[in-house]
Amino acid sequence: KILENKVAIVTGAGSGIGKEIAIKYAEEGAKVVVSDISEKGANAVVEEIKKKGGEAIFIKADTSKPEDNEVLVKQTVVKYGALHIACNNAGIGGPASPVGEYPLDGWEKVIGVNLNGVFYGMRYQIPALLASGGGAIVNVASILGQVGFRNSAAYVAAKHGVVGLTQTAALEYAPQNIRINAIGPGFIKTPLLDANLSPEAMNALVGLHPIGRLGESAEVAELALWLSSSKASFVTGSYYNIDGGYLAQ
Ligand code: NAD
Repeated sequence: KILENKVAIVTGAGSGIGKEIAIKYAEEGAKVVVSDISEKGANAVVEEIKKKGGEAIFIKADTSKPEDNEVLVKQTVVKYGALHIACNNAGIGGPASPVGEYPLDGWEKVIGVNLNGVFYGMRYQIPALLASGGGAIVNVASILGQVGFRNSAAYVAAKHGVVGLTQTAALEYAPQNIRINAIGPGFIKTPLLDANLSPEAMNALVGLHPIGRLGESAEVAELALWLSSSKASFVTGSYYNIDGGYLAQ
């Protein structure tokens, strides 16, 4: 098992991509803190991990609040004695509107979760990783961290921010044995997409992926797992797209 004896936090782990990452981490031997703003899905993920013989707890945290991130890391270290891996995955879609009409409160909310949340996460995870002798962080960006997308200005801006933030933190901590990478999923079948798109819009999205389908959360989890493990020991400051060919066009 490639994450034996490791302690990991996954944010937004109650659903979609984060859920699959948490499950995969646990299958590979990590003790997993399943964190989410909502209890419902997260408790079910903890149960699923335990049923398969893994170790996990739920800690509630809103990643857009600095104090929640601080408490999340503190409670993790109290419970499991260290922190080696963090996956900053929590994210929201936000309103669909062109820039000239974009709702100001929607902008604040999306930046608060999708960009500030990743900064606050790393702000408190990094000292704990240093105290544990190093580790790995995987930030979940998006293909929309590399290119624009109509009517999604806040999301696109936040995800571009996550890529730059990841590179900067990676430079700062590479000498201290912390690897920090970002991943850029294409459109993945999750409740986030279902909540934001009609079936017709969903079908149109398929056409943007040369591979001819949307991605699965479990496929994205494989990349996050690899980056979190010592198999990726020479990989830091990278952005990996996992997008069925979307960005190759
Ligand atoms: P999802 O809606 O299925 O899951 C997101 C989880 O995050 C939910 O459980 C939700 O409760 C939680 N969450 C929301 N706000 C939070 C907050 N403030 N603090 C803590 N938890 C919070 O979404 P998903 O599709 O699995 O998305 C996960 C990540 O992947 C996001 O960062 C998203 O931007 C990114 N992503 C998704 C896609 C896609 O097509 N689904 C593509 C690229 C990137």
